[in-house]
Amino acid sequence: MSTEKGSLSISSENIFPVIKKWLYSDHDIFIRELVSNGCDAITKLKKLDIMGEFTPADDEKYKVVVTVDSRSKTLTIKDNGIGMTADEVKTYINQIAFSGAASFLEKYKDKTNEDQIIGHFGLGFYSAFMVADKVTIDSLSYAKDAKAVHWESEGGTEFEMSDSDYDERGTKIVLYLNEDSYEFCNEYRVREILMKYCSFMPTEIFLFNAETLEKEVIEAKNEQDKTEDKKADENSDEDADENAEDEKKEDNSPKPINDTTPLWTKHPNDCTEEEYKEFYRNVFHDYKEPLFWIHLNMDYPFNLKGILYFPKINTEYDTIEGTIKLYNNQVFVADNIKEVIPEFLMLLKGVIDCPDLPLNVSRSALQNDGFVKKISEYISKKVADKLSGMCKVERENYEKFWDDISPFIKFGCLKDTKFQEKMKDYIIFKNLEGKYIALKEYNPDVTGDKDNKKKVYYVTNEQQQSQYISMFKEQGLDALILTHNIDQSFITSLEQHDETIKFERIDADVTDTFKEEVSEDDAKAVKEQEEALTEFMKKALDNDKLTVKLEKLKDASISSMITISEDTRRMQDMMKMYGYGDTSMFAESATLILNANNELVKYIIDNKEDDKANLIAQQLYDLALIANQPLSADAMTKFVERSNKIMMILAGKE
Ligand code: ADP
Ligand code: MG
Repeated sequence: MSTEKGSLSISSENIFPVIKKWLYSDHDIFIRELVSNGCDAITKLKKLDIMGEFTPADDEKYKVVVTVDSRSKTLTIKDNGIGMTADEVKTYINQIAFSGAASFLEKYKDKTNEDQIIGHFGLGFYSAFMVADKVTIDSLSYAKDAKAVHWESEGGTEFEMSDSDYDERGTKIVLYLNEDSYEFCNEYRVREILMKYCSFMPTEIFLFNAETLEKEVIEAKNEQDKTEDKKADENSDEDADENAEDEKKEDNSPKPINDTTPLWTKHPNDCTEEEYKEFYRNVFHDYKEPLFWIHLNMDYPFNLKGILYFPKINTEYDTIEGTIKLYNNQVFVADNIKEVIPEFLMLLKGVIDCPDLPLNVSRSALQNDGFVKKISEYISKKVADKLSGMCKVERENYEKFWDDISPFIKFGCLKDTKFQEKMKDYIIFKNLEGKYIALKEYNPDVTGDKDNKKKVYYVTNEQQQSQYISMFKEQGLDALILTHNIDQSFITSLEQHDETIKFERIDADVTDTFKEEVSEDDAKAVKEQEEALTEFMKKALDNDKLTVKLEKLKDASISSMITISEDTRRMQDMMKMYGYGDTSMFAESATLILNANNELVKYIIDNKEDDKANLIAQQLYDLALIANQPLSADAMTKFVERSNKIMMILAGKE
């Protein structure tokens, strides 16, 4: 072939500056594109082999070799795949690859950064020009009697084609890096990029550094010369003509940088527990063992494979941060693509390979894609299936993991109504006995619900609410322990989805269960006493807004306690969360319950004029407060002073 020059048919001039500028942040994807082209070329050849149209040599080892050379500032990508004839270069490179790149850019050149294209699929071969001033291709097709072809272009729309003396089957692409891109002939940088994008590509990939390779070859040669000299000296007639260069090359290529059959490509039945754990360690560099995992494997109605791991969370305050790596036919696309992966699953660690995903579209297009939505729904359904299955079949294990996985599940329920619907019977709660129960197993047997809802009592702090807990236990009542930050939003969401239940914190009210049955007359008398007592307490506590209730509680040892209505408290909690916390609010919304059966309360009722009644009233109020929440600094000081005073009286010193 005589040298042929040509111009790439393109209407929009200066496409390359656009490529360079537009893909500013993700220059490194060109490596993924060129290496995956090499892998594709090998896959094609393997297919021809299967079809009987090509027979590889016995010792044939398919591979893609990436070589950096910092002296010549080049990066070379070589494969021993199918290769291209001159005609094929014309078709596939001059026309197809270019028109692909052109239409890709045409579509997206006006897009802003927020509307990125996922993984920049579609740019392909021409992405090389993001980093190179000049690119050459040498290729020899597998076809019988094929002639090698040379192609080169200096990044404009001009190219040149001629015969090549390249004598290996396959394709060699050399990038002459531009000044801004010298990092791509640095071995460590290139290794990092290969690890990122190519770790699981289906053909073995090797990385070489031309400079070190040459040095080693020279050293090996010197070494060999020495031994030969020695042998000659010893008059040995042994023939030592092994090729030092070849030997050295072999030595240097023992390990491909990738795993060609990542675990997710295998059938779940063929994977061992150890393999799953090892894969987790290798991919996520997390040396804590995962709790368990879900292996996704489906061909219909779309192709999707992957493994999702539930990581171990150290403390409940740990921010949970996962990574879901998205692959397309073993080619890495990106981490945490929220358009494809349900948001709550981002808390997990995992890999998902979905060749059917339309990745050459923008993120916003993906977001509105019905197919992508289906994928996302499928993944979240699978997770729900696995969890509910575990709850049914391996309840013991499920309970063991529960504290670790529950924030994640609750978050999922908040974010995804369908997930909540599927999971709601499999959400378990620790109860007062420390047992795990589902909501439907909870039966507090509390009467007196005004609004006909099943009341579910809960505890947010076992120490702080211990007085209430012991009251509950004494009456044989149960409550759920809900101590995680997420619980408050979670129960609100449960209530919204199920109108028959109402969550109430254990200190929200004193239900009839705790009260003695009283006759009507009795109740009347108590009511009267309550009024007088309220007046007295307001004065004694110097608090005009205080609400006091006198009740005949079964347990006479209880003197006083605080209740605060559920709705008010939730509102206050929310305000606190947003930084509007105010203690005066509490004083207005809390109710002081005094037990008419308690001797101290009786003392106050009967001795309102006595100085001691004042002291006792103040002390009872503080004790009730303490049993509900920490005292303010000021109240605490007064409480300590008063306690001392009371003891002085006890000791007869005052
Ligand atoms: P795509 O890979 O999506 O087809 P590319 O721009 O990456 O787009 O490549 C265009 C075409 O060029 C490929 O489809 C293939 O036919 C050809 N090609 C590219 N690189 C190679 C290679 N290393 N070996 C053989 N053919 C190649
Ligand atoms: Mg390609």
